Order: sequence, then structure tokens, then C-alpha cells
Amino acid sequence: MNIGKGKIVTISYLLKNGAGEELDKADAKEPLVYLHGMGQLVPGLEKELDGLKAGDKKAKLEIAPEEAYGDMREDLRLTVKRSQFPADAEVQPGMRFWANTDDGNQHPFTVTGVTDEEVEIDGNHPLAGETLFFDIEVHGVRDATKEEMEHGHAHGEGGHQH
Ligand code: ZN
Repeated sequence: MNIGKGKIVTISYLLKNGAGEELDKADAKEPLVYLHGMGQLVPGLEKELDGLKAGDKKAKLEIAPEEAYGDMREDLRLTVKRSQFPADAEVQPGMRFWANTDDGNQHPFTVTGVTDEEVEIDGNHPLAGETLFFDIEVHGVRDATKEEMEHGHAHGEGGHQH
């Protein structure tokens, strides 16, 4: 059975950046189980997996930023007033929170700098602007159940348990 929209796919992967640093992985003991074609993986990786079957492997797949977490957006790097945060909030670099952007969407931000008056925040994904390199192996492909399609995710081992 080949990977396509509506299949439950089990993969292991190793993700590195352009400098060869390991960013993330899922090994064969604790693989990633996901519903294909629903945007649960970055678009470039879903495209590469499309049509593969159990046992297939690919090494050093190169995924450009626009097919991964997008380019770095300067408009998501902002300086806001300290007073915009609750007075009792402990605002420090690394703190993450959700805020509305100009387009009206909720967006996750990370605090990157704090002074007495101002707070620098960055809404870019930590991997924005990065070219990603994946080694992948497909361990299983099956049809999604009707319930999985309705929920939009995989159930069972490695998937949602509910
Ligand atoms: Zn579910």
C-alpha cells in the first residue's frame, strides 16, 4: 500500500539543519504515526513521503524553508511595552505566549529580550528560515478508519489515545 491522502503512516526520522546539527528525531521504537495529507507534517516532507510504501527509506532529503516552517518574517519581530503584560507576569527571555497579530489571528510568540520598559518578542517558528534535512524510513501504511478521518488524526499506538 502506498502513502496517499487518508492513509495512517508510521515513520521514523532524523531531522538536521544545514550545519548538520540534530534538531529532532523519532526512532523505530517510538515512531511517528500520523494521518497523511492533512498538513500534520511540513508540506515538503509530506510531498516526499507521498507514494512511498513500508520499507522505503530516503536519506538527506532537503526541504527548503518555504516547504518547511517558512521564511523569517521581520514583521513578527516586535518591541512592545512592558506594561502590555500583566504586572505580576514574570516576563523573561524564552517565555512563550499567544497574542493577536494585525491580521487578527492568534499567533505564538517567544520573548527574546526584556528591559524595564520594553519587551522584544519574536513570532517566527524557531525553524523559520532553516533548510531542513531529513532521513526517513517508512514502517507502515494503512487506511485510516472512518473515525480517524472524522477526527483528523491517527488513533491507537503512537496516535491519539482517547
Ligand atoms: Zn480522535
